[in-house]
Formats: sequence, C-alpha cells, structure tokens
Amino acid sequence: MGAPPQLTADERSAALVRAKESRQIRSSVKTKIKSGEFSLSDVLILAEKDAVIAKMRVSELLAALNGVGKIRATAIMERLNISPTRRIQGLGKHQVNALRNEFSPGHSRGKLIVLSGPGGVGKSTIAAYIREHGTFWVSVSSTTRKPRITENNGVEYYFLTEEEFDQEIAKNHFLEWAHFAGARYGTPREPVEHGLSAGKNVLLEIDIEGAKQVKIQAPEAILVFLEPPTWEELVSRLEKRATDSPQRRAERLELAQEELAAASFFDYRVINDQVENVVRKLLSLASAH
Ligand code: 5GP
Repeated sequence: MGAPPQLTADERSAALVRAKESRQIRSSVKTKIKSGEFSLSDVLILAEKDAVIAKMRVSELLAALNGVGKIRATAIMERLNISPTRRIQGLGKHQVNALRNEFSPGHSRGKLIVLSGPGGVGKSTIAAYIREHGTFWVSVSSTTRKPRITENNGVEYYFLTEEEFDQEIAKNHFLEWAHFAGARYGTPREPVEHGLSAGKNVLLEIDIEGAKQVKIQAPEAILVFLEPPTWEELVSRLEKRATDSPQRRAERLELAQEELAAASFFDYRVINDQVENVVRKLLSLASAH
C-alpha cells in the first residue's frame, strides 16, 4: 500500500464535509427504513445508483428493518453466509437474492425441521421414508465416515476425505457440523437455504450436537427428538446392526445413553413406534408453526 495522499487544508475540509454528508444520507435512509417508508428491496435498488447508500453496512440495513433488530440481523447474516462487516456494494448476486426472498412481502419461507435423537433410534429410516415420499425436502449431509455397502455418494451422504471436510469448514459451507463416533458429519448450508427460500419444508436428520448448533443459527427451526419406544428396543437395534464392528457398537450404546438425557433441549419429543405415525406428527408440527 502507498503512503496516504497529502491533502491541502482545503482538500481536507472538503473531504470532511463529504463524509458528513454521506453519514447524513445513510442516517436518513435508516430513518426511512425504520418508519417503513423504504423496504429492503427499495434500498437495494437505490444502492445500485447511489455510491453513498452502496457503502452502507448490511448489518445496519437489516437491523433498521421493522421487527428485525441487531440480534436477528446477525443471525440472518450468519445463516446467509454474509460476513458481519459486509457493505451493500460487496454483496454477491446470490446473497442479494437470498435477502430479497427473506424479506419479500407475502413470501413464505419453508419450515426447517430438525430430526435428532440417539444413534440407532431409527432416524435414517424415517428420513429415507420422507425422501421417498417427498413429504419434505431432505438435506444430504457430508461425512468423513466410509460408505456402507448399501450407500451411494450423493444419495445418503456426500462422502468426503478429511481434507475435503476441512476445506468445507474453512469456506463456511456448513450450517452445522459435529463429531460422531470417530467421524465428522456436516449439513451443507447452501441447498438448505435455497430450499427454505423457495418455500420448501426442509428436514435435517442429524445428531444432537448438530441440532443444538442449528437452533443457535436458526432459532425458528423446529427441533424434534425421536425416542425409542423403550431403552431395551434401542439396545436390541444397536446390537443387530451388522454393519458396525463390535467396538463401534459398544461406543454407540454408551453414547446413546448420554444422548437420551438431552431430550429436554428439544421443542418436541416423538416416539418412534411406526414410521407413518412419526411422519404424520412431523407434518402436523410443520403446519402448526
Ligand atoms: P450414520 O453414520 O449412522 O449414518 O450417522 C451417525 C449419526 O450422524 C446419526 O446420529 C446421524 O443423525 C448423524 N448425522 C448425519 N448427518 C449429520 C449432519 O449433517 N450433521 C450432524 N451433526 N450429524 C449428522
């Protein structure tokens, strides 16, 4: 970077006047947003023509919108992968579209349903049924664990190497991710956001740590804890799992015990007695919200 330009006294005072004017313009835009005179879409259009408005921070714009405020603004930006210091002029095309969708009047976003519970309780069976019947759009997670013999890349999971998973984390491409039984699992952010913006109800089938992270990033998410009809039933399911090694099964049993204790964190608890019953309950929860 070169040395700062040497300004004459006149140039310096002219620059100060311009800076003051810019602040006044941005402040009057914020007042108009607060009063409802300007919508988010109006400001985005104005920013295309006005360099002063284009320099406004996205966080300030969102926080000024009615019913949003600073905390929700931060959460929305995090969810849409917009850096906290981004100015309007620095937004990418997808980010502008995502923001427009988020705030367009009459637009209804889809619901985010998070299905979690102890390993072995039958979440993946429920998710497979929902995927097959198109009840909700089901997110495909990424994982570092090896595919089971029946699994295909891009269907049950995206199977990544440790290095690929690291890169996805570094690019902030996961809505959440967690360690589970010696492997890492993460929810790709973009497809989920895309589905919700398009008004689709989206289902995540993830572990408990991941569910907690989702609630922080998207407080409107509906967290459902799937419970076994009895503990004995869960033990017998895990013991029958032929695809796991004995050591892996023992680890899963121990973890399941801890996980059952986490139910209180969830919005709803649903007993996995029959797949159809669970799916019916998830549907009614989504429409009740
Ligand atoms: P499995 O290896 O048996 O397919 O899954 C192991 C655990 O990882 C299950 O509890 C499953 O719900 C969880 N899981 C699958 N995908 C994700 C994900 O994207 N994020 C998190 N946090 N957990 C996941």
